[in-house]
Amino acid sequence: MKITNVKVDMFNWTTQPWKTGVGTAFGHTRQLGVVGVETDEGITGNAFLGSSRVGADHFAPGLIEFIKPIVMGRNPQDIGAIWWELWKMNRSVSTYVIGAVDVCLWDINGKIAGQPVHRLLGTCKHTVPVYSSTAYHETKEEYVQEALSFKEKGWSAHKIHPHGDPQYDMEICQAVRAAVGDDMKLMLDSMWAYQYEDALRVGRAIEEMNYYWYEDPLVEEDIYNYIKLHQKLDIPIMSTEYAPGRYYGMTQWITRYATDILRGDVAVTGGITPLVRLCHLAEGFNMKCEIHHGGNSLNNVANLHVTMAVPNCEFFEFFPLHRRQYVRTRAGHSVRWGRRARTYRTRPRLRNRLGLGEARTHVYFGVAVWPPAKSPGARAHRLVGCWQCRCQ
Ligand SMILES: [Mg+2]
Repeated sequence: MKITNVKVDMFNWTTQPWKTGVGTAFGHTRQLGVVGVETDEGITGNAFLGSSRVGADHFAPGLIEFIKPIVMGRNPQDIGAIWWELWKMNRSVSTYVIGAVDVCLWDINGKIAGQPVHRLLGTCKHTVPVYSSTAYHETKEEYVQEALSFKEKGWSAHKIHPHGDPQYDMEICQAVRAAVGDDMKLMLDSMWAYQYEDALRVGRAIEEMNYYWYEDPLVEEDIYNYIKLHQKLDIPIMSTEYAPGRYYGMTQWITRYATDILRGDVAVTGGITPLVRLCHLAEGFNMKCEIHHGGNSLNNVANLHVTMAVPNCEFFEFFPLHRRQYVRTRAGHSVRWGRRARTYRTRPRLRNRLGLGEARTHVYFGVAVWPPAKSPGARAHRLVGCWQCRCQ
C-alpha cells in the first residue's frame, strides 16, 4: 500500500467567542480542516486540523509544503518510521500538523485491520470517567453555579480555569469547594499564570481545600521553579501540557522531580504515536499521564482511543466551549465504547441540548460541529465517514 495524496479541505466553523483568564481567545469563525491521506488501495485516513483558537488556515500551507512530500509514496503502515521523519519537521510546522497526519495514518491502519485504534494499541479499559472543564466566568458566583450544575447532573469531577489573579483564583476555588462539598473531585488549571511566590500561595490554599491536582501554575519552561514548588507542596502538580520538546522533553520533568503527573494530547504532543509513548513513559515511573482536550472533535476521539489503551490516564477531559454546542450526558460521567469500531457513546447516551433534527444521530464528543445539511461542513462530515458518531 502506498500513500498517493495528502489534502486539506477547509470549511467555516463558528463557535461562541470565549476567552481564558490569561488572555487566550477562542471562538468566532475559524477554518476547520479535514485532512485526508489517500492510498492506492482506496483507503483514506482522516483527521481534523485546527481548533477554535487557531484555524486550519494557519496550518494547512505548512502541511502541504513540508509534510506532504515526506509521506507521499510511503507505506502508511510504517507509522513509526514516518512519525520520526515528521517529528524532525517540528521546526517548520506545528505539532498540530504532525499530529493530524499521524492520526490519519492510525485511521488508515484501523481501517486496514477492521479494528478500532485502541485495539491496535492494546485495549486497557472500556470506560473512563469524564471531568467537566470550565469556561471563563466573570464572577466566582458563576463558577459556583457552573460547578453545581455539573454536580446536579451526576458528574464527580470538575476543573476550574480561573482568572489568573492569585487572590481571586483562591476565592473562586474556595467558593466552589464550599458549594459542591467534599465528595466532588476539584482541580485547578492556572494556565501558566503565576510567578513562583504566588504559585506557592495558591498551591497551599487549594491543598487545604482538598483539590485533586494543581495544573500548570508556572510557565512551561520554568523547570527550576517547578522543582521548588514540587518540594514544598503535597498536592499533585500536573504540568508538561506544552513542555518544550514534548515527548522528548519529558525525561527532564520526571528525573528532576518537577511534576507528579504528565500531560499531552494528539495535537500538542504531535499525534497518537508520541502520546502513547508519553503515557508508557509515565507508566514506567508509576506516574499518571492525563490526556488534554484535543481542540476539535476528531482529536478528542483520537485522544479517547489512547486513553482506552493505557492504564494510567484516569480521566477524559470534557471542555464545553459554549453551552449551545455542548454535547452532554444527561446524568452520566463515563464514556463507554459502542459495539461498532471507532464509535463510542456514554452511558447514559449523549444528547445534544439544541434538539436539532440531526442531533440525535450526529453526536460528536467534546467540541461539537453541526454543519447545515448542504454546507461544505456537511460534505466534510461525510468525508470523515462519521467515524466519531453513530449516524451510519
Ligand atoms: Mg490545561
